[in-house]
Formats: sequence, C-alpha cells, structure tokens
Amino acid sequence: NATGSITAKEVDSFIHHHAPLCMRNLHDSLRADKHIKYGGRLQYGLFLKGIGLSVEEAMVFWRQAFANITDDKFQKEYAYNIRYNYGLEGKRANFKPFSCSKIITSNPPSTGENHGCPFRHFSSGNLEARLRRDNINGAHVDEILDLVRNKHYQLACTKHFEVTHPQNKEKIDNIEHPNTYYELSKRLAEK
Ligand code: SF4
Repeated sequence: NATGSITAKEVDSFIHHHAPLCMRNLHDSLRADKHIKYGGRLQYGLFLKGIGLSVEEAMVFWRQAFANITDDKFQKEYAYNIRYNYGLEGKRANFKPFSCSKIITSNPPSTGENHGCPFRHFSSGNLEARLRRDNINGAHVDEILDLVRNKHYQLACTKHFEVTHPQNKEKIDNIEHPNTYYELSKRLAEK
C-alpha cells in the first residue's frame, strides 16, 4: 500500500490533522452519534481503506465506534458490509474510494445522513459555521463561500487545503479526490 498502513487507534488523530472536510464531518458525526448511516459508512469506509486501514483494523474501528450496539447486532448488520468493501464478500470487487466528482454529483444526503461534500451539500450557513469553528479566519471563509456560491466546490476545497496548510509553499493541483487531499496533507507533515 503506497500510503502505508494505519491502525484503528490512529484514525482519530490522522483524520483530525489530514482529512478533507467531507471525511472529518463523517468522523465527527460518527463520534457524536456512535453511528452513521449506510451512505456515510460506505463513503468513509472506502476512504479509510484507501488511507491504509486493513480489514482487520476496520473491524476494530467500526466495532468500537458503534459503541451502543451489541456484538451480535454488529456481526449481523455491519460486519458483512465492511468485509464487502474490502472485496471479501459478495462479488468480491476491489472497491475504490469515491472521487470528489462522484461524491458531489451522486446520491445527495437527505436529512439525518452525513455523507456527501460539505462544500456542495451543506447550507451556506452551516458551512460558514463549520469553517469558523475550525478557526479559519474571516477573509478566508469569505473566499471559500464565494467559490461555493459560484459552484466551484472542488476549488473551495483546494482553497480550504491552502488556508489550513500555511506551511505549504507550492501551488497544488485542484483537489479531485479526498484521498489526494489526505496524502498531500500527510506528506507535508512528514517533511
Ligand atoms: Fe471531500 Fe472532495 Fe468535497 Fe473536498 S471537494 S470536501 S475532498 S468531496
């Protein structure tokens, strides 16, 4: 695996420091509710697979995350889908993490669902509140919201990367994949 491997225990910190807003939003919802719905588990689960979480570690991660359910319920209702994402069940396909364009253009989240792209799917009030809560300064928040208003969601995410990684001195390509965002961020931290 090109990105190395991570353990269930490392997920909180790596997501907090390196993941794009779509995945941090899913992670935060999972921690707050001890649950996320199917669309979120799929989007986030494949992302985690892409950053190097093995199927064994994924089982540990999701079992602990769904703290309010029994082992029995977990095995019956969730374990299969986790193994499925890793190609160990059903049609045994090697499912790839979703790209930004797939997340932005297909299967929009309805109420109570947390998947999707915050730049595309949050109301502008919620997006602004989230960016401010992350301590992004007002001028940068305005720039990001302007891009969103003009439907440049991936440019907004690229700007988000730039303003949250001031140590990055190089011009980066536009973000087209959540896993690229993560890898760029991780690489910067390792420099
Ligand atoms: Fe995630 Fe892509 Fe949206 Fe950024 S543009 S938040 S990486 S889906």
